[in-house]
Amino acid sequence: MTKITAVKTIRTRAAGMWAIVKVLTDQPGLYGIGSASDVRHPETVIKAVETIAPMLIGRDAGRIEDIWQVLYTSGYWRNGPVLNTALGGIDMALWDIKGKEAGMPVYALLGGPCRAAVPAYAHAGGRDLDELEDSVRGYMEEGYEVIRCQLGAYGGGGFRDPVSVSRPVNAWPQLRVFDDEAYLEAIPAMFARLRERLGFGVKFTHDVHEHLRPQVAVQLAKRLEPYRLFFVEDILPPEQVGWFRVIREQCTTPQAIGELFVHPLEYVPLITERLIDFLRLRVSKAGGITPARKAAVLAEWFGVNTAWQEGADNDPVNQMAAVHLDMASTSFGIQEENDFREEERAAFPGHAVLKGGYLYPNEKPGLGIDIDENAAAALLDPEKVKRSYLRGEPDRRADGSPVRP
Ligand code: MG
Repeated sequence: MTKITAVKTIRTRAAGMWAIVKVLTDQPGLYGIGSASDVRHPETVIKAVETIAPMLIGRDAGRIEDIWQVLYTSGYWRNGPVLNTALGGIDMALWDIKGKEAGMPVYALLGGPCRAAVPAYAHAGGRDLDELEDSVRGYMEEGYEVIRCQLGAYGGGGFRDPVSVSRPVNAWPQLRVFDDEAYLEAIPAMFARLRERLGFGVKFTHDVHEHLRPQVAVQLAKRLEPYRLFFVEDILPPEQVGWFRVIREQCTTPQAIGELFVHPLEYVPLITERLIDFLRLRVSKAGGITPARKAAVLAEWFGVNTAWQEGADNDPVNQMAAVHLDMASTSFGIQEENDFREEERAAFPGHAVLKGGYLYPNEKPGLGIDIDENAAAALLDPEKVKRSYLRGEPDRRADGSPVRP
């Protein structure tokens, strides 16, 4: 039996701090790492890991499922983003240990590879259509088959200059005005232009980032149908997923959602009722490899694909956990890419390698990724970390009412 002897948390990265969990054992040199990053509330999740840690000491590191179930119900209340992320970090570390003990990569433990590498999609963007087209062409040249297309920031295409819009005489100060109908015009026009210039050989996605009123979301999905998207992402906020049934009745535009989900009841019915096409959980936020693997298997039986969430605020360990699941899952659809800075990659030896539109894991036992604690510490900048906690104001409509982030 391999006993857990200590659980550490390691803080790294300046703007948008990451938290890495390290689970140590009584076997010389044997430890595992996992991702417990939450760039909005990093210290809250770290505190949760520290609170749970004493429950782990002395337990058999090999009992991953049992430990997951024990920790999951340890606070009685469960399925919240803080506890899930803490649990996710610990769970990844236990899979890392299990793989190292077995002398196998985690994807081998999960059933073995069912693909040679992991196709990833790129994030193209531009302030206008010319810039966006250039960005898309650049990724096509790099070898990406699937490219996300955005007109600038989230909600881009739907913003109007506050000066040109009729606003209340006592309007609150705001930099820009989001308008659902402007977005509804701009995004189909964006894809009409991209299809006209680039044809249908390249696959496109688009992230609405919850900005629309539900009935406008239905209209957008319908108007995007002729441009045959690979998927449209987060066309609804998690609170409005009941509208997916209306979207299904209206059109065939594939739907992806899940990066905000933490409770199985948020995604299980969407899978079993076949109301979505891609499940986009963030592996750490779902509670780690253990529950994400179960969701991937459930998705397989219902013909739903996975597209685990990545993007800028994720760390290389969460990405690696996603890549191991991708390698061994028949329900895999696509992986969101995350391209780290050179010094960030240097702090995580063994990180997945992104090349020509594919992510490559390595064949080392466990997750195959490690953390260089000195390099990780050197990335920290307390002042920048403090600033990154401060949330920006939400986008607002002309009357000042907030739009979902
Ligand atoms: Mg997204």
